[in-house]
Parts: sequence; structure tokens; C-alpha cells
Amino acid sequence: MKKYDYLVVGAGLFGAVFAHEAKAAGKKVLVVEKRPHIGGNVYTEQIEGIHVHTYGAHIFHTNMKAVWKYVNQFAEFNRFTNAPVANYHGKIYSLPFNMYTFNRMWGVITPEEAKAEIRKQRQTAHIDFPKNLEEQAISLVGTDIYEKLIQGYTEKQWGRPCRNLPPFIIKRLPVRFTYDNNYFNALYQGIPVGGYTKMVSRMLEGIEVRLNTDYLKDKEALDHLAVHIIYTGPIDAYFHYCLGPLEYRNVRFETETLDIPNFQGNAVVNYTDRETPWTRIIEHKWFEFGKDEHGANLQKTIISREYPSEWKMGEEPYYPVNDEKNGALYQKYKALAESEPQVTFGGRLGEYKYYDMDAVIDSSLSLAKRLIK
Ligand code: FAD
Ligand code: UDP
Repeated sequence: MKKYDYLVVGAGLFGAVFAHEAKAAGKKVLVVEKRPHIGGNVYTEQIEGIHVHTYGAHIFHTNMKAVWKYVNQFAEFNRFTNAPVANYHGKIYSLPFNMYTFNRMWGVITPEEAKAEIRKQRQTAHIDFPKNLEEQAISLVGTDIYEKLIQGYTEKQWGRPCRNLPPFIIKRLPVRFTYDNNYFNALYQGIPVGGYTKMVSRMLEGIEVRLNTDYLKDKEALDHLAVHIIYTGPIDAYFHYCLGPLEYRNVRFETETLDIPNFQGNAVVNYTDRETPWTRIIEHKWFEFGKDEHGANLQKTIISREYPSEWKMGEEPYYPVNDEKNGALYQKYKALAESEPQVTFGGRLGEYKYYDMDAVIDSSLSLAKRLIK
């Protein structure tokens, strides 16, 4: 007899949702997490009364009503709407690409004028069927916006020329012919009041969690404890990188507390030129309208600059690089995973997928429905 029905490796969103569902179904669950805290990459910590998004800005947004209802069991959400701005050589543009952006770029006023300008630039570039991110971007918004707001940012973010990146990455951003700065096409959007850590800790209430525990370092002993394993770490690490490592993009965050109340007047400012070494600056207090449960912090603010870099073995992996080469390698690891019926691989690292939070939750809930009898 095993002590637990499920061993969940990783206390990020995928693991926490699965563990919650398993416990709710009367199963015995153990969660192990190699970091010293729960939450995975959505972890937030309170500094100077401000919830700091330690692993980068996280804005919850979804069109899935069921997922929105699900997360609202664990947290109250504020009405934050992401409206980042782009700083290109000191000039400010609205994001995502919308009528404010087109007006600032070309002086156009009406949607028809904006469409005509984009059409003209697309035709000059001779793009019919976009095959890569560069062609996709020019086809969607024209050459000027590609050169000023996309090319520099994307090449810093991914460390690869836009011509070598898949088109889908840029299709994450809406293009709108309306005056609307909402970054997401999502019906539901917000930030959990009290931070994401509080939300995840509610998901994990009553569940045994062992922090600072690396499953792969103690695999044999931990495997003995449970009937089935849900593994949300990197799939290639599980197989000792036997087919070679998958590539990731890493991000280094430089966080500073400043003795001023307002640094940039917005939660997110993207630096879209090539020369600025960071991609964006986050000013954490604006995710909460400058407030937390103790009231406004009028004296200080906390900012984080994001510096992307190539991932090296031993570092925290952030973004899977979903290009052809890595996609093919992932398929080979996936085939290996199928020969381990007692283990299910899930989440951003387990499935090597550029997942948003809502998709991770949806995927974990579907797995729980399929697996837990
Ligand atoms: P993770 O959060 O990575 O959790 C996996 C956990 O497993 C980690 O805690 C890890 O330490 C642990 N682990 C790994 N290996 C082991 C091991 N061997 N033993 C024990 N534990 C292990 N999504 C949005 O919807 N909106 C956003 O605004 C947004 N912004 C983002 C910004 C950045 C910079 C990044 C990188 C991602 C962003 N995302 C956003 C995506 C979001 O972070 C993910 O969808 C989500 O956090 C994935 O959850 P997960 O549980 O799959 O992975
Ligand atoms: N992007 C860009 N300019 C910007 C913001 C985004 O070119 O100012 C591109 C970039 O290639 C990025 C992609 O759009 O990787 C998706 O952006 P998103 O904000 O969704 O990235 P994430 O929040 O996942 O880092």
C-alpha cells in the first residue's frame, strides 16, 4: 500500500490546481517543490506594502467562464486592465496596436485611413503568406510599426532574428481598429487582491507540501510513496537530457525600491528599441492602483527591469522556445513520456508550451477530470 494516491511535483498553478482537485475528491496528495515557496512563476511577495511579481508581471485574463469562476473561489480579483505603453527612443506609443498607435505613428484619424496605410506597407513588402514572425508582423501592422515597436523588442526577448521565429508569437497581441488600449482580448481580467501567493496557498489548503525538495534528486524514494505522479518540471530534465536539452529563454529581473511615489505612471512600459538592454520595466504598485490592504504607499515604489537571456543548464527556465527545432525535440521526449504510464507530464515545463495561466488551469482541471476516479 502506498501512502499517497498522487505525488505532485511542482507547486505552480498546474500542480496546485491538480492537488486541490485530488484532495477534494478524497485522495491523498503530497506536493513537492524545489523552490523555497509555492506558486511557481506566479509567486508574489510583499515588500513595502506592495505585492511584487517576483518572476515577472502576471495579469490574469481569460475568455473561459469556467476558469474565471474557478479562480474566483480562491481570490477576489481587482479590475486591473493591462494597457502597457511602448517607449521607442523616448517617444510613447499605445499598445496593443490600435487607433491610438496608428494615430501617433502616421497621424491617421479613421480606421479606414489606418487600414489603407497598413495595406500600402504590406504590398510594398510583397507579403502574401507570412512564413515567419517578421512577415506576420508586417502583414498585420505594416513596416513602420514592425521596425519601431516589434523588431527590437522581439529580438531582445527571443535572442533570434524575427525571420527565424514562428508567426504565432506576434499573433498573441491584438490588432484593433478602435481606440482601445486593453492589451488582451479577454472577457475576464484582473489581479488577485492580496497577491497570487495567497490565491495558490488557498488552493493548497490542507495539503502536505514539502518545499526545498527536488524530486529528481530523490526520485526513487519519492516514487515509492505514491501510486501516480504528476510532474510539472521540465520534461527534458526528467529524462536526464538524454536526447539533448530543450532551449528556453531566461529572464533576469533587477528589482529596485525607489523613494518616490511614482516612477513611470503605468504598470508596464516596454522599451522597443534595440539599444536599451532591458525589454520592459514593471512598476508593481500600479497592478493594485498603488494600494494594498493597508492603504496606499505614497512614499515609495518598486520597479523591476527585465533582461532576457539565453537559458543555461542549472538556471530557472522561463519561456519555451517553440520553434521547429525545439518542437521536434519535444515530440521525441513526449514519446519517451508515453512509456511511463505512472507519470503524467503537465504545465508549461512538462508540456514545453507557451501557456498562459488560464490555459494551464484549464489543462490541469481537464487532467483531474480524466484521471481522478
Ligand atoms: P511553473 O509556475 O513553472 O511551476 C512549475 C513548478 O515546478 C515550479 O515551481 C518549479 O520550481 C517546480 N519544479 C520544477 N522541477 C522540479 C523538481 N525537479 N522538483 C520539484 N519541483 C520542481 N500568464 C498569464 O496568463 N498572464 C501573464 O501576464 C503572464 N506573464 C508571464 C510573464 C513571464 C515573465 C512568464 C515567464 C510567464 C508569464 N505567464 C503569464 C505564464 C505563466 O507564468 C504560466 O502559465 C504559469 O505560471 C505556468 O504554471 P505551471 O505550474 O505550468 O509552471
Ligand atoms: N511584442 C513586441 N513588442 C511589444 C510587446 C510584444 O514585439 O512591445 C511581441 C514580442 O515578440 C513578444 C510577443 O509580442 O514576445 C508576445 O508579447 P506578450 O506581451 O504576450 O509576451 P509575454 O507577456 O509572454 O512576455
